[in-house]
Amino acid sequence: ASVGVPRERGEGERRVALVPKVIEKLRRTGVEIVVESGAGIGALIPDTHFTAAGARVGDPWACDVVVKVAPPTAEETARLGSGSTLIGFLAPLTSPETVTALRDAGVAGFAMEAVPRISRAQSMDALSSQANVSGYKAVLLAADHCTRFFPMLTTAAGTVKPATALVLGVGVAGLQALATAKRLGARTTGYDVRPEVADQVRSLGAQWLDLGIDAAGEGGYARELSETERAEQLKRLEEAITGFDVVITTALVPGRKAPRLVTARAVEGMRPGSVVVDLAGEAGGNCELTEPGEVVERYDVTVASPLNLPARMPEHSSELYARNVSALLELMLDENGAVVPDWSDEVLATSCVTRSEASEGATEATKGE
Ligand code: NAD
Repeated sequence: ASVGVPRERGEGERRVALVPKVIEKLRRTGVEIVVESGAGIGALIPDTHFTAAGARVGDPWACDVVVKVAPPTAEETARLGSGSTLIGFLAPLTSPETVTALRDAGVAGFAMEAVPRISRAQSMDALSSQANVSGYKAVLLAADHCTRFFPMLTTAAGTVKPATALVLGVGVAGLQALATAKRLGARTTGYDVRPEVADQVRSLGAQWLDLGIDAAGEGGYARELSETERAEQLKRLEEAITGFDVVITTALVPGRKAPRLVTARAVEGMRPGSVVVDLAGEAGGNCELTEPGEVVERYDVTVASPLNLPARMPEHSSELYARNVSALLELMLDENGAVVPDWSDEVLATSCVTRSEASEGATEATKGE
């Protein structure tokens, strides 16, 4: 099969779906790789590095498989051939129109978000690889905006107390945020509605904030809270939050609006110079004062809601994402490098959001050979 790598055109998107290192390895499966000129510009990878790795510069859209980072725009979908395969973040729960368009275009779509969170598929877990980047970067932003030190300092000019950091929502991004804040010397605390997270939080040297609410849902994700639980949670969080210098929020429920965890009153209660970094901005935000994509000052507290943080660290986020994508792609290739998805494979069946008759036909034909 031929595999195309387009240049991402979304605003601020600096990642690329495959990087030279990963291409070198992927080529051993027998695929041919076609990279659009400038595809690596955002990640500072020149075309020559792609060609040195064995890729060709050309039209990626004419390939059997197209690998992307962001969901395709309508124009991009129109360039995909009927019977082709697209692998990338496709936002199937929040942007069903993307999926409908792919189906109508006869494209087999595999959504990186839909890869099951099982051990065998860990190498393909792009939600995790990118959330790691977000959690790390969120802490650096918080440290940058905070008017106080993170670490405890004992100097000739006196002693400075360490900052206290609270992470609300301790999935992959939250765990990385706790670890990063700890490395910078902050006193860390984690909170989640899934009680099983408590041990992971403690193993990172952080305290566990227990509000007595258990909302573990399906597949390791959280469920939405009931009205009563929500009111109780907000009240208790309001009391807790005022004691922290830094609050980082990452709470998400797949396909839903982000839960509200930080009220305006809570922010008002924080010490001047404190910081809230809200990583849930794309889903509406966890903080009442969040303006997605903006940094605002309220009650002398900075409330930042950066969007797409992985794009701000394009080298490593692209490299990790490329490994995820190529692992999923390799799973659907036969020994000659042809695309032959085995639908009895849970990982492929679950991540596939559209199947095309055209590509099924090709599958049968290849099988017959
Ligand atoms: P996510 O991004 O969907 O959500 C972030 C966190 O917010 C979650 O921990 C969630 O419980 C929490 N949350 C949701 N509503 C909340 C509320 N009202 N108050 C407080 N917290 C709230 O999560 P994620 O990082 O994608 O991780 C989801 C699950 O997948 C976790 O169980 C994680 O351990 C699991 N996981 C498994 C694997 C694997 O086995 N391969 C890999 C990565 C993640």
